[in-house]
This record gives sequence, structure tokens and C-alpha cells, in this order.
Amino acid sequence: MGDRAQVGLTAAEALALSTPADIRRANQQIKYALPSRLQAGSVRFVTNAGPVSRATRHFVNLEFIGFSAAVARPGTPAQAALELTKQGRLRFECSCEHFRYVLRFVATAGGWVAGRPEHGMPKLTNPTLDGACCKHIARVMTDLQMSVALRQRVAAMIEAERARVDRPGGKATPRAVTLRQAEAERVVPTNARRIAVPRVAKLPPPASAADLRAAIATYRGKTDPTSVAIARALNALLKGSAP
Ligand SMILES: [Zn+2]
Repeated sequence: MGDRAQVGLTAAEALALSTPADIRRANQQIKYALPSRLQAGSVRFVTNAGPVSRATRHFVNLEFIGFSAAVARPGTPAQAALELTKQGRLRFECSCEHFRYVLRFVATAGGWVAGRPEHGMPKLTNPTLDGACCKHIARVMTDLQMSVALRQRVAAMIEAERARVDRPGGKATPRAVTLRQAEAERVVPTNARRIAVPRVAKLPPPASAADLRAAIATYRGKTDPTSVAIARALNALLKGSAP
């Protein structure tokens, strides 16, 4: 599949596209997502890892696609932050293996990957290309929609960027808002919020019809079981995507 324009997903869409298993694991296992660094429209979160993970924590990177527009628009930083966190389109990635081996390809095809694009199809791990959020990202998306404290940090990032742009010359490096551990812990609720999958009126297609047709063409004529399974999955996606 070719690179598409990066369209992103809202937090609500990302949760709605996620599998019930990933949402359940997020509720049971992922207790916090600390926003550790905010800079020029990107936020880095540190989350705890699940019980069977070899890692002790994971890192989620989130990019607000509309950040420059939010900086330029009239209104207070708080108003701009409210719009960005609730309705803003996002790109995202996580350091966990589930995202790396299963979801990065889907995010690349769908146009919401942050960081490295992945063009290798997850043949056996995710032949139907389901999902959007791993359990760590699901926790981040929920905080993004509901946490007042997180929204205040996003407002601070907007304020810092407005001050930078207004400065004569305006070329200083974007200022990073970093949170010390104690401050980050205050941002995080004592009891993790229940992650609920919001209703989304109309989900974006996971990939464009043109992309899917191009991908299907590369599997045409192949008869090995893996290629047949991939072609079948792509055809199923095509039926559900935009004309
Ligand atoms: Zn993850």
C-alpha cells in the first residue's frame, strides 16, 4: 500500500475502532498514563506495562494534527485545548510489541501512524487488520477525552507555542513542557477511569479503496495459503470501505 495523506483519528474514533479484547485488557491492566513531555503538538506518555510483559513500562507518542491551527486560532489556550483533546485528529504509536507487530501496519494503512511507517502486512498475527489502540493507547485516549488536568497541560503547551511564535524573529526552539514525577502523578487520577467505547456516528474507512485495490492486485494469482488469506482479508476490507 502506498503512503496516504495522514488523516488521523479522533480519540473517540480510535477507541471505537479498537477490539473489545484490547479495551478489556486496558481496563484490567493499565492503571496510569503519565504525560511526561509535551512539545509543539506532541505528547509523550509513560504507562505501566501489563502483568506478563517483559517491560516495566511503555511509551505512547501522540501528535495533534491540528496543533498549528489551534495555536493560530482566536480564543484562549483552554478553549483551543478543549477542542484539540475532544475533537482533534491524532496520530499515535506505542512501544509495545502488540503495536509493533500488529497495529503499526494498520495505523500506516489508515493514515494515523506516528513515527515509523510499517508496510509489512501482519500476515498471521492480524490477517483481518482489526484494531487501532493497544491497551496502553486506549488508556491515553480515555484520559485525553476526560482528564481536566491533562487538558490543562495541553493548554500550557499551546500557550508556550503562542509565546514562541509571537517573539520577534520567532525562531526559538519549541519549548518543551516536562512534568516531574510528583507533578505527573497529580495529573493522574488515583483510581483509573473506566475505559468506555464511545459511540461514533460514522467511522472512517480503515484504508482507501484505491489502496486496497492496489494491495489486492499484488496478491492476485498467488495460491499459497497465506497469500490467499491476505487477499480474502483485503477483499473483506474493501467491501466495508468507501466506494
Ligand atoms: Zn501499547
